[in-house]
Amino acid sequence: MSTIRFEAIKQTFERTPVHVETPDHRSDQFGANVFNAVVMRQVMSKEAYSSVMDAIEGGGKINRKLADEIATYMKIWAISKGATHYTHWFQPLTGTTAEKHDAFFEPISTTDAVDRFGGAQLVQQEPDASSFPNGGIRNTFEARGYTAWDPTSPAFIHGTTLCIPTVFVSYTGEALDNKAPLLRSLLAIDQAATEVARYFDKSVTKVNATLGWEQEYFLIDKALTLSRPDLLLAGRTLLGHSPAKGQQLDDHYFGSIPDRVLNYMIELENECVRLGIPVKTRHNEVAPNQFELAPIYEEANLAVDHNSLLMDLMDKMADKHNFKVLFHEKPFAGINGSGKHNNWSLATNKGVNLLSPGTTPTKNLQFLTFFINTIKAVHDNEELLRASVASATNDHRLGANEAPPAIVSVFIGSQLNKVLEELEDVSKGKLSPEEKTDLKLNVVGKIPEILLDNTDRNRTSSFAFTGNKFEFRAVGSKANCAKPMMILNAIVAKQLKAFKVEVDALIDKKGLKKDEAIFNVLREYIKASKKIRFEGDGYSAAWEKEAVKRGLSNNKTTPEALKVYLKKSTIDLFEQLDVMSEIEIKARHEIELEEYVHKVQIESRVLGDIARNHVIPTAIRYQNILITNVKGIKDVFGSDFKKLAPEQLDLIEEISEHISEINSKVNMMIDARKYANKLDKAQLKAEAYCERVLPFFEDIRYHCDKLELMVEDNLWPLTKYRELLFTK
Ligand code: ADP
Ligand code: MG
Repeated sequence: MSTIRFEAIKQTFERTPVHVETPDHRSDQFGANVFNAVVMRQVMSKEAYSSVMDAIEGGGKINRKLADEIATYMKIWAISKGATHYTHWFQPLTGTTAEKHDAFFEPISTTDAVDRFGGAQLVQQEPDASSFPNGGIRNTFEARGYTAWDPTSPAFIHGTTLCIPTVFVSYTGEALDNKAPLLRSLLAIDQAATEVARYFDKSVTKVNATLGWEQEYFLIDKALTLSRPDLLLAGRTLLGHSPAKGQQLDDHYFGSIPDRVLNYMIELENECVRLGIPVKTRHNEVAPNQFELAPIYEEANLAVDHNSLLMDLMDKMADKHNFKVLFHEKPFAGINGSGKHNNWSLATNKGVNLLSPGTTPTKNLQFLTFFINTIKAVHDNEELLRASVASATNDHRLGANEAPPAIVSVFIGSQLNKVLEELEDVSKGKLSPEEKTDLKLNVVGKIPEILLDNTDRNRTSSFAFTGNKFEFRAVGSKANCAKPMMILNAIVAKQLKAFKVEVDALIDKKGLKKDEAIFNVLREYIKASKKIRFEGDGYSAAWEKEAVKRGLSNNKTTPEALKVYLKKSTIDLFEQLDVMSEIEIKARHEIELEEYVHKVQIESRVLGDIARNHVIPTAIRYQNILITNVKGIKDVFGSDFKKLAPEQLDLIEEISEHISEINSKVNMMIDARKYANKLDKAQLKAEAYCERVLPFFEDIRYHCDKLELMVEDNLWPLTKYRELLFTK
């Protein structure tokens, strides 16, 4: 009997929900472990407080003296909360978070010690950059890198450590993390959107991008997960026959949450609340053992940090509750995978959502301006947006008829489509008084009413307008939101800048009124960006054909999708906006390809190992039982045995056939890997893994899964799908 599997199942059956303390009142706890503006106002001098706020809100510099002062207050506050260590908390390009803890404690003689933490420690640290992905930047320059404090994201206490959010850059200033380019893109969109927003309201001085993510995940018992080498090492199952019952009854979605899971969620949320993460929604998702967590949206930089922090917390909390959380986009074949919808909008310093229609024609023209410019930006940069969500793991989800396809399109609903169609007919140049009135009353004026009853939603679209924000649905559950957000901010920033130039030219050179100029430019944008708008079924084969006709890209694999990074237009875009330099873009391209190769390589090795060392020996063992049985029948019945053991004989033969297929396919896969490993260009290596190694997975899996159905259940070593998915 396979001991690990049955031991794991036994442990799972014996589990009871882990007890959790529920605090009396969550709202009292909100942000209790965050060194936020409220705390700063309480503990800091008036001057120090207002200088920090200036720096945070206006992007001003914090000098050394002020940094020392802030550090002192931070230290006293953190120690009063039980912190013993501090760390620069950053998001290297590994996709996770990184930290190196230093103690406040410092001996000053053999008998005395103090707690030390000054401005220097707050502002900068020097982790070794060569231990993190750097895409060749290290070879070109120095190995050293440094982390630098990001005062726009508040420090927080996690466990007994004061965590200081930082960017991570090489010694020569190249970004080695997700946050640095994100911050630069936020500055770019702030500048571009503020200029445009001022057409409508002169008092606007700042525009923030806002992000509300929705995190999907699977929660599987720890013992069951550890019993599967593929889940342990690759985060997904590489084989396993589908259970008799999957998600076809739709009985999990929004169903009652199992007690063990609920306790996990409660404790997780309590911790989130203390860390200032405004968690709001929790529910079961479509697949068995799949769930979702969503907060209220926040300023994008903070929202990105909060998502990274949350994923880290989820992992740790799962361990305490005897679960493993799976963030992989497709942990189980035949069952829905997980995504992370990124709801995105723009908000002014006056608290106005620029993608929300208002009650006056001016507000609505403002809405249309940002709405149409966003669509145009997506149209012009669809390939780049696709690249922003490309990864080995997300390739399994995009286009799997549960997530949007690899084709980027914008869904806006039939009502707004009608509005855009009418705007296409706006006259060129100056508008007559009648036309102005008509636009005001019948087109622009009707928008809020339209949106109220605009309930159509299209789950198959990658980029959908949902009333007052766009929802980017192709983001993978494992992804760091910084990448898609950085790219979205950048392309919209570029677009808004171009818009401003065009409108101003019509006003200055053609003598048009502001509104007339805006209508004129928007009309052309609507026409020029039509092909990105799609209201139909994004999962259908017809859409794939239609998209080809429209000239939209359909980059199904990561190595293909990432190529756009190296296009001159991409490099120009990022350089002109000061979001990334050519060196940084090329480094990122390289890092992402390397990551792709590593992911597929690991999976391929694990699959080979499971097939050879678990599946084949088990199949042989069962075959031997059958052979012994047939021999026994022959002993008893003589030459009649064939008639009496047809099933056994068939099985013996079929098992041999499957074993031989597995064996030859694994050999071929290893040869393909050897070939790929010899290639030294990252692009070629990634393509070889994609085109030559990956295709064997399905074949090998097919034969292994057939054997799973044949071999006696007691002997099968790998925890089965039904056990992973239906044990609560
Ligand atoms: P659903 O998409 O599940 O129907 P909602 O439309 O209420 O739910 O919102 C989904 C997500 O959108 C939430 O996480 C919410 O915080 C976020 N969201 C709402 N408004 C904005 C906004 N202005 N900017 C960014 N995200 C937003
Ligand atoms: Mg949603």
